Amino acid sequence: AKEPVRVLVTGAAGQIGYALVPMIARGVMLGADQPVILHMLDIPPAAEALNGVKMELVDAAFPLLKGVVATTDVVEACTGVNIAVMVGGFPRKEGMERKDVMSKNVSIYKSQASALEQHAAPNCKVLVVANPANTNALILKEFAPSIPANNITCLTRLDHNRALGQISERLNVQVCDVKNVIIWGNHSSTQYPDVNHATVKTPSGEKPVRELVKDDAWLNGEFITTVQQRGAAIIKARKLSSALSAASAACDHIRDWVLGTPEGTWVSMGVYSDGSYNVPAGLIYSFPVTCKNGEWKIVQGLSIDEFSRKKLDLTGEELSEEKALAYSCLT
Ligand code: NDP
Repeated sequence: AKEPVRVLVTGAAGQIGYALVPMIARGVMLGADQPVILHMLDIPPAAEALNGVKMELVDAAFPLLKGVVATTDVVEACTGVNIAVMVGGFPRKEGMERKDVMSKNVSIYKSQASALEQHAAPNCKVLVVANPANTNALILKEFAPSIPANNITCLTRLDHNRALGQISERLNVQVCDVKNVIIWGNHSSTQYPDVNHATVKTPSGEKPVRELVKDDAWLNGEFITTVQQRGAAIIKARKLSSALSAASAACDHIRDWVLGTPEGTWVSMGVYSDGSYNVPAGLIYSFPVTCKNGEWKIVQGLSIDEFSRKKLDLTGEELSEEKALAYSCLT
């Protein structure tokens, strides 16, 4: 039998946490043969709710779930974890300045970085979900220098999956037959969902999405804005944010990272930029990646047309500004 893997979820009593922990306990994240021990962290005002989630996990009698740690103590939460999914963060509230929200999150991610660095298992893989996800991940990286930079990522898989979903609806094809969309840049409204290399499996072989959709105006316009604004559309419809799909995407992100992407398929992940595609190095930026043996690699050599170039640069500029704002909160 396999040794259990310890998975940390911060903000575990929140909406995404509530959708995510049962998925992890069922094997959706790491596979149906991988036992897990869940570490759930939340802040003291949420401690009672967190205990309720723990009670439900016990009641669900998940065969793969070998233990639950539910705590408000960051050190206890981080001790020995192999995977850390950072969902907890300070929410944007009406009337708050951007800098104030950033400053709250910088201090949260700074202290959690230190706890992970000192207490997590060696080679712990980190996924940041809480917004501003890219910049929170960057702060975590800066304050956990002994964790390899390649182990610190942020979630853009939800945007990636939303793009697959839009193409599948438009063409009336199965979503599993659509692949290789790309989300470039920031997990924000400046992200660039790119279909220039995306394909669909058809009875007569793989076809480019552009050839099948035959509507560049839609692909360069409404498609992009729909993906960018999907989160807001769901809040409007549900009066609550998109927790189910965010949790599912977090599982997809970790599963593909750990178990590998299928041959010929890439996914989008926010990763530490090495300057590929002339994206400034030193930002956490979403790229197309393939994964093998627990490591991601940026897909190289894709052609970038002028339309795309502008969009890659714009979202990169936003991330550089966020980085500067985050650093200004440190002093
Ligand atoms: P959610 O579980 O809905 O969201 C958590 C975070 O994920 C938010 O930052 C949210 O960003 C972000 N996020 C990223 N992608 C998505 C998406 N597609 N849909 C929705 N959210 C997304 O928030 P809750 O308020 O329900 O739960 C947050 C938990 O964090 C609470 O239990 C709270 O106690 C805890 N918390 C922990 C803190 C800490 O660790 N110090 C500080 C504050 C809270 P966005 O805000 O942009 O929606």
